Amino acid sequence: MNEYDSDRIINSLSAHPVKEPSDADIIIVNTCAIREKADHKAVSAVGKYKKLKIKNPDLIIGMAGCVAQLYGKKLIKQIPHLDFVIGPREIPKLRDLIFDIKEGSGHRRINTSMDIEEVFKVSPYHEAGKVNGFVSIQQGCNKKCAYCIVPTVRGNEINRSLKEILEESRLLINQGAKELTYIGQTVNSWKYEGEKFYNLLNHLQELDGLERIRFTTSFPRDVTSKMVDSMRNNSKVCRQLHLPVQSGSNRVLKQMNRAYSIEWYRDSINRLRDAMPDLSLSTDIIVGFGDESNEDFDETMKLIEDVKFDTVYSFKYSIRPGTPGETMSSHIDDDIALDRLHRLQSRQREISLENNLKQLNKSYKVLIENASRNNPKELFGRTSQNKAIYIKDLNKKYIGKIVDITKIEAFQNSFIGEPT
Ligand code: SAH
Repeated sequence: MNEYDSDRIINSLSAHPVKEPSDADIIIVNTCAIREKADHKAVSAVGKYKKLKIKNPDLIIGMAGCVAQLYGKKLIKQIPHLDFVIGPREIPKLRDLIFDIKEGSGHRRINTSMDIEEVFKVSPYHEAGKVNGFVSIQQGCNKKCAYCIVPTVRGNEINRSLKEILEESRLLINQGAKELTYIGQTVNSWKYEGEKFYNLLNHLQELDGLERIRFTTSFPRDVTSKMVDSMRNNSKVCRQLHLPVQSGSNRVLKQMNRAYSIEWYRDSINRLRDAMPDLSLSTDIIVGFGDESNEDFDETMKLIEDVKFDTVYSFKYSIRPGTPGETMSSHIDDDIALDRLHRLQSRQREISLENNLKQLNKSYKVLIENASRNNPKELFGRTSQNKAIYIKDLNKKYIGKIVDITKIEAFQNSFIGEPT
């Protein structure tokens, strides 16, 4: 979502991104407030540019994103070299804001309104020929997860119209995109004028020139049978699903206000795998939420043991201002939470590698994306299951094409492959 917003920021200014901050006329730090660490990082990132502003007083420095939304005025007071803050919903107003500052109004600006009608107005910048891109189909979130700051900083759920989604998709396809990832906080709850998420997948399937469809992030409760059927029946929809579970314990799920039981979650996984045996699954887990006990945590460990996710993104619970979690009375000891996180991550590393080793010497359809950053002689691509593959001995003319590749070496997060 932040990558997408950064690309919208670039486009809203018709800007040409530069590599070095010292070459820029405008520096905008786009920020994430999901955990305390990210939010500290954001403030210190802005601090780094103070020296450049002293050298070049015409330089405009701004902060965008959820940290800007959360602390607004406070940041302007705290950081004298910051010219403006702008929240995620105000990106369509950025152009006017910059002109205003340039014209020398002298005012530092705080743009953190949530009442913006045209939240989707600006499309993202897309580098010519780039194989993949993002399309936002939803802003904000209506779920009330007790730990989560998203509804506070991104507001209530607003669904984008089908017409705009198709228009933006065509725009990116015309610029060279072959694979589009449709994004929203709970993307599969999308609905618009009688259309639901499963219908949307049918419409996207019809887009000429589009080869692959991904979407993230899905909310477990909204995985319906119709959605599963639609995923299975639409050949462009990738065999990949990110389905955050957060905890394996019903007691913790209830405290988190996740609106499903672990039995429901496991049942959804079974239905998905029955329909699509080659589906790759990933999830998010928070450890140490509320008064999570050893027994609760054991249930999370049991879940990852049983499901064998390909990837688990796991986090230590971080208390966020203004969330229901902030006022909960019991919080577990930091050392215990950290120990649980390490245990979970270390077992999951083994599971991810075990899963990958099972795919060795098999052939997969790989969309070739670009030359590998580390070794320009290798190309990089991904399978439908979102597995990263580095390929030796393949001509660059295959960038943007789907090629049969045999996996010959497996690591925890990637493979080495060769043309089949
Ligand atoms: N709606 C988005 C939310 C993105 S946040 C989505 O479902 O993907 C991504 C992940 O960060 C969440 O799934 C959760 O596991 C984690 N997270 C959210 N708030 C957190 C907090 N306060 N502390 C630790 N991790 C958190």
